[in-house]
Amino acid sequence: MARLVNRRDFAKGIGATAAFCSATVRPDLARAKPNYHGPNVIIIRFGGGVRRRETIAPKTTFAPFFTHSLIKRGVLIPDLMIEKLEGQNTSHAEGTLNILTGRYLAWQDAGSRIFDDRLEPTEPTLFEYFRKTYAVPAHQTLLINGEDRPQEEFFAFARHKHYGIKYRSENLSLYRYKLYKLKRFLRSNKGTNEDIANARREYKKLKAMDYRGVTGLNDPMLNRFWESWRQDYRDSGLLNPRGDRLLTELALRAMKNLKPRLMMINYQDPDYVHWGNKSHYTRAISIIDQGLESIIGLADRDPFYRRRTNIIIVPDCGRDANPLTALPYQHHFNTRSAHEIWAFAMGPHIAKGKIYDRRYDQSQLAATVGAMMGMPTPRVEGAAIGGLFT
Ligand SMILES: [Zn+2]
Repeated sequence: MARLVNRRDFAKGIGATAAFCSATVRPDLARAKPNYHGPNVIIIRFGGGVRRRETIAPKTTFAPFFTHSLIKRGVLIPDLMIEKLEGQNTSHAEGTLNILTGRYLAWQDAGSRIFDDRLEPTEPTLFEYFRKTYAVPAHQTLLINGEDRPQEEFFAFARHKHYGIKYRSENLSLYRYKLYKLKRFLRSNKGTNEDIANARREYKKLKAMDYRGVTGLNDPMLNRFWESWRQDYRDSGLLNPRGDRLLTELALRAMKNLKPRLMMINYQDPDYVHWGNKSHYTRAISIIDQGLESIIGLADRDPFYRRRTNIIIVPDCGRDANPLTALPYQHHFNTRSAHEIWAFAMGPHIAKGKIYDRRYDQSQLAATVGAMMGMPTPRVEGAAIGGLFT
């Protein structure tokens, strides 16, 4: 396992972005936390498990915008690895927590069935490091989650005595919207007795998934966000986009209305290949690619993001290489190619058109983001990837 990052490694990362950062921030000693003046950071999980072959390989990619247009604007690390460790599964929740905590195995099982990720972090996430260091409200640190994955709500903060709920991110997902909508309806005193009884039952069922009680916090900015969503997409759930297109729409609206400084978008649909059909996998990659084009397009146009935003794109895990097995494109069997991923970074102080062909580790990304944002990340393992910066 990689060692804990030391002060010198951290300072090296900080030095690379010195224009933005103050390396002397001591959040626990400061009377008031400083405002944040560094770059916005958007982490895009090219998720649901993807192989290099269908994403970054120019001749076989299903992500043409990413491979042919975007990569030349930043640094591609084609050889990022998920370390092989006892107890380390190559899967979605694990990979996401490796990225967010900068460590391996930094989670505990919150009660899952087999192949049903339900992990909560035991070490601080990037959101917590960020909000502990700077005066940034929760609604400017966002996780954008898929509609069928309420377990990803757990990634907003860790069970850790020096961090935790006080420094959490907010989450945007259909799960959150449904809670908002039901609560609104129950407070309205409208509807038949049967409607009210049904809504109560549904609300109770959804709330039970959130045993840490985060969804009751009632942030007025989030309420405003969901009210505007409701006005456009109504109550039925039939009008809004679904799957990973929904995540793109949530991310675009969040950028316009909430102005997140740190946001992670958890794309996931390539995972539908678990049902056995290869085209589910390749089509989902194309839909993520379209999402990238929309999100980068907005970041290029919007003055809040233009020239002051770092984008990081990274898969949660890879997939098996042999398409001829009985269950092709899986990722739970610890094969080598399920560990083989990549990362891409672009932004105002990041090199352009560079392929950084050295082996790095998925757990190094959190230290790298910490260096970009000028925040101490004392619990991460591994050093920041300093060579990204110009
Ligand atoms: Zn999966």
